[in-house]
Amino acid sequence: MAAPLSCEIHRLGYLTTIRERKVTPGPEVKPGYMRELLPDSAPTDPEDWDCIFRDIEKVIMPGVVHWQSPYMHAYYPALTSWPSMLGDMLADAINNIGFTWASSPACTELEMNVMDWLCKALGLPTFFLHHHPDSTGGGILQSTVSESSLVALLAARKHRIQQLKRTDPADRDLDDSVVNSRLVAYASDQAHSSVEKAGLISLVKIRFLPPDDHFSLRGDTLKQAIQEDRRRGLVPVMLCATLGTTGVCAFDDLSELGPVCAEEGLWLHVDAAYAGSAFLCPELRGPLGGIEYADSFAFNPSKWMMVHFDCTAFWVKDKCKLQQTFSVDPVYLRHENSDQATDFMHWQIPLSRRFRSLKLWFVMRCFGLKNLQGHIRHVCSLSMAKLLESLVRCDPNFDMPADRHLGLVVFCLKVCGLCLCCIVL
Ligand code: PLP
Repeated sequence: MAAPLSCEIHRLGYLTTIRERKVTPGPEVKPGYMRELLPDSAPTDPEDWDCIFRDIEKVIMPGVVHWQSPYMHAYYPALTSWPSMLGDMLADAINNIGFTWASSPACTELEMNVMDWLCKALGLPTFFLHHHPDSTGGGILQSTVSESSLVALLAARKHRIQQLKRTDPADRDLDDSVVNSRLVAYASDQAHSSVEKAGLISLVKIRFLPPDDHFSLRGDTLKQAIQEDRRRGLVPVMLCATLGTTGVCAFDDLSELGPVCAEEGLWLHVDAAYAGSAFLCPELRGPLGGIEYADSFAFNPSKWMMVHFDCTAFWVKDKCKLQQTFSVDPVYLRHENSDQATDFMHWQIPLSRRFRSLKLWFVMRCFGLKNLQGHIRHVCSLSMAKLLESLVRCDPNFDMPADRHLGLVVFCLKVCGLCLCCIVL
């Protein structure tokens, strides 16, 4: 092998020259474009590293969307940083598969501690902490918010089915699948498509509810839907509330929805995929009013907090409800500390898991909360989004069909009615 990878990455000079690259692939990149650039089968003999690496420019780069370019404003932010990259490189070098505490104690222990740091940094309730005398909850790093919503729905479903079978004689002897068919969960019609997908997978009906004029789901709407569904013989099981919707970054009203969920016995899951990072700043925590009613909460440090994908922070109020959903406990994975230790394999769908907390730990330590807050407020997004908003408002060619929230500016070219969303990075 000719040169270490770090030299090769440097030679490519990817990040230093990224401004010169067009953000999206050219028109010549069509589905299947790579077929003619690659041989039909893997090489039988080893290839020279220089030759392999030259193919990055030739084969890969033409089809790359440059998410790290300062000119990239599509989808959502995927910001990165050098401590995060080093954390992931170290994780890859160690390559731990930390499914149980025993399979790599440092992997589990760092994750528990860093999730507690992050919980406190966001001002979330203490019942989400691993290390707190009154807490029965804790946090875990999942791969995506989509997976977290599914995990929450599966846990809510399991809990509700068990509860019904315990308390309702008519349900006691029914098969779980029969009870499942009566369950219904709720979300705003602005919720991310992953909520619909969680319903598809779990076979729980999802009812999408209309938000108010500010795209925010309100308590009365939920209450009314629950009453209608109970009359139809359905069993309400969960609400997935969104803080920072995908379309316009609207916030469902947790302070109204939380009490309704508590009265009606619904699991309240909060999806704050993009907006969650903003709660690092105390002055941006207004939408968290009512978070004390949440059973679970998820956000992506991999969007706005400069931590590489994948990294989704997911907290649950009652870890037993997760464990009763995902525990299968085969004898070959038991260990001498099984009774006292946290085994994250019981908190998630897959068995295996990466050492994701290293990159989060590095980012939180290298920047400190002070600089992470500064990043949200000034360096990136907020101040620039406000500037863009003021420019758009002054221009008679544009309308703003939704309020600006955080870094998301939604504007519309009057002449054709075409709506554009722009996340300012
Ligand atoms: N939820 C919301 C509100 C989102 O905006 C997104 C992504 O855009 C997601 C969920 C999906 O996130 P992930 O890719 O982590 O599943």
